[in-house]
Amino acid sequence: THFGYRTVPLTEKQSLVDDVFHKVARRYDIMNDFMSGGLHRVWKDALVSKVRPPQGARPFELLDLAGGTGDVSFRVVKAGGAGTRATVADINAEMLAVGRERAEKRGLGDKVTFTEANAEALPFPDQSFDAVTIAFGIRNVPRIPLALTEMRRVLKPGGRAFVLEFSKVDVPLLDKIYEAYSFNVIPQLGKRVAGDAEPYQYLVESIRRFPNPDVFANMMREAGFSRVDFTRMTGGVVALHWGWRI
Ligand code: SAM
Repeated sequence: THFGYRTVPLTEKQSLVDDVFHKVARRYDIMNDFMSGGLHRVWKDALVSKVRPPQGARPFELLDLAGGTGDVSFRVVKAGGAGTRATVADINAEMLAVGRERAEKRGLGDKVTFTEANAEALPFPDQSFDAVTIAFGIRNVPRIPLALTEMRRVLKPGGRAFVLEFSKVDVPLLDKIYEAYSFNVIPQLGKRVAGDAEPYQYLVESIRRFPNPDVFANMMREAGFSRVDFTRMTGGVVALHWGWRI
């Protein structure tokens, strides 16, 4: 079977995605370390240093979309001053529940809040956040242009959106290794840890089908973002995009 944007109906695509994270919520953070060889930490740190939350008491409200178990939010709140707060929004209640527990354990319960929400229709008023992040989430959203438009809508003027996502490896040989790894190793790991390879096959496929950085930058422009730019990391395994709401 080919699970593509065009061949899988939208509702089915979302339910496949939900299935993956439903199954792995408890093991999600370990799986991340395992499958990326710890690299997701490096990529997330790069994201946080771009977000650059203010030091001191100046209020800074982050929306961490498809925020899952809260990893990006915890990092931003730790990097920022007393005024930095984060809202984790995710479509999957299980991921959020794991996140809430982690926040309590870290003593961040009052700085990081968790909200069940679909990226395509956000339950937040216009212009309510200083920054929006979505890390390894946007390729799971069936209608990406809707999510981008929503991200811009909830940003305050002068705010920025950041999209961290798997991309196209542009280094010879590394691309072959990466392909072999993702098509063979990831589904097998998924089978061992979560008991099912198919949802992981779907995730790998969704990475392969995700647009290259130039195309994605144009999607951000079409959604109304200004001064859109991106940087590739780890030979193009991931790309970090950003754009301003002016
Ligand atoms: N951002 C977190 C991180 O980097 O550790 C979690 C990333 S995880 C790979 C992808 C997340 O996207 C899952 O928690 C999933 O539930 C969420 N997701 C999938 N579709 C979504 C949608 N339409 N709206 C909001 N979240 C969604």
